[in-house]
Amino acid sequence: MRAGFPDFRLGNVLATSFTGTLTERRGNAVERIPTPQRLVDWLAANGLAVDSCTPAQLELARELRESIHAAATAAATQDALPAAAVQVINDCSIRGRAAAVLTPEGRRQWRLGSASCVEDALSVIAADAISIIAGERDGKLALCASPTCRAAFFDTSRSRTRKWCEMNTCGNREKKARFNAGRRENGTAARAGAV
Ligand SMILES: [Zn+2]
Repeated sequence: MRAGFPDFRLGNVLATSFTGTLTERRGNAVERIPTPQRLVDWLAANGLAVDSCTPAQLELARELRESIHAAATAAATQDALPAAAVQVINDCSIRGRAAAVLTPEGRRQWRLGSASCVEDALSVIAADAISIIAGERDGKLALCASPTCRAAFFDTSRSRTRKWCEMNTCGNREKKARFNAGRRENGTAARAGAV
């Protein structure tokens, strides 16, 4: 991790990990890919190493990110998909060149086009978003219950009742808030009882 930048929140679903590079969207938003180099770092951490990134490519990446967020949110709430977002996702999916290859250990890796450019990596992310929004994978898109977050996440729990994008962050914060609210209520009740 590079000093001075917000750390990454890496999940196991590529497309929603990518939308998670902007957190607390309804609160004090935290941009986790604030510079082109941080996008390079994020892509490398997700098996999509690229040679370099320009400010324009970072802009494109953020446009894709917000489009995935918009389309995934619509899918989670069963609203019509926003046409502009679908267009961006499709353009990114079509534009890049990437191929899945199988390692000798039986794992999938992504081989980007000869130039290993950001557009190739974005096409992999766009295709991942398409597969979850289209309902092709085992799971369900949902929105985080935290009012300051509302991140779209892919719920693969058996019961499909996950409430938070991440237990470590939003889940724990909500639990603590409820615990403190409970203590305040109990405190008030105890004082009222004493009078
Ligand atoms: Zn959340």
